[in-house]
Amino acid sequence: MQELFIKAGKLIKDSQKILCISHKRPDGDTLGASCALYQALKEMGKDVQMACIDDIPDRYFFLPEIRKNIKEFNFLDYDLIFVSDAGASYMTRYNEVYPDIFSGKVPVINLDHHASNDNFGTLNIVDLNSASTTIVVYKLLTFLGIKISPAAATAILCGIYNDTGSLMHGNTTLEVFEITGKMVELGGRANLVAKSLFRSTPVNTMKVWGKALERVTINEDGVVVSVLTQNDLEELNAKSDDISGVVDFMNSVPGSKFTVLLNEDEKGNVKGSFRTRRDDVDLAELAGRFGGGGHKKAAGFTMPGRIHQEIRWKVSPAGALNLDETPISPKSLSKPQELLSNILQIPEVKVQS
Ligand code: 5GP
Ligand code: MN
Repeated sequence: MQELFIKAGKLIKDSQKILCISHKRPDGDTLGASCALYQALKEMGKDVQMACIDDIPDRYFFLPEIRKNIKEFNFLDYDLIFVSDAGASYMTRYNEVYPDIFSGKVPVINLDHHASNDNFGTLNIVDLNSASTTIVVYKLLTFLGIKISPAAATAILCGIYNDTGSLMHGNTTLEVFEITGKMVELGGRANLVAKSLFRSTPVNTMKVWGKALERVTINEDGVVVSVLTQNDLEELNAKSDDISGVVDFMNSVPGSKFTVLLNEDEKGNVKGSFRTRRDDVDLAELAGRFGGGGHKKAAGFTMPGRIHQEIRWKVSPAGALNLDETPISPKSLSKPQELLSNILQIPEVKVQS
């Protein structure tokens, strides 16, 4: 890591105009990382800008200057580009809009912590041991002796709280507690972060959650499943961003193996979100089968298609619902559609592309 940090330091030193890109459908880690970099580089006298292809959800507006994010730019105007928390280049969606953006014409520092990262940067700082990308940012800034202001500390906390579920997930290591403490010491506003991310739920978001929770089922394999259609969102006057968070809530069913939330979006895609609390289930691998990726315990995918429901009735002998702890082996299934319909049995839901 140190060699990579030294290289990053040189790239920063040689650059004046710097762009910090967050991934599509941004969350608190990608925005926190871009925001922390923005604050730190700006204090060094650099000319910095933040960019994201999608709107910034309201709940992140507490992040200092986050509303300065732009959607469009000419990447050739910059000396250096940071991309934070994007497990693959397509997660920025700028590869579609500006096909040459990752060609190396402008150096790109890919800062991330996903095992499935495809190393699309000129410099790839991908630290699988960090619970959040903002922790990678913290390590980089600290190594280079760059000051972390109270604003940057709040942004670093935002990524930590986002990716550890408010210091509750299994990735909340001693290092996470230590860095969280340091950020509070530097003036980071942990309470504001926790409240904004986990205790701020508009009524239509609650109704979307209610719809998802009403439909929760657990299948014979101990997979917790729910579905939200575009029709649901329209009826509840909600956006697909209102769905964010409910899958983590669903991921608390005792004895379950993993949790799946499928939802349709405005663009004609089906998005799948996977979560587990178990160590023996690899959801990054499972999401990879649908062209997605992520972490072992939190992963997702997006594919063109719509969700169709089929109700099937069947008689099972008493005691047949077996929630044993044997690891699942999705490897035996080849096609994504086959796999999904196997996961999602009661009621059966199929994704048709
Ligand atoms: P979520 O379900 O909250 O959208 O995503 C959970 C995790 O999986 C996040 O770390 C996110 O970056 C990652 N993820 C979600 N969708 C995709 C995808 O299509 N590709 C990759 N590589 N990662 C994804
Ligand atoms: Mn992250």
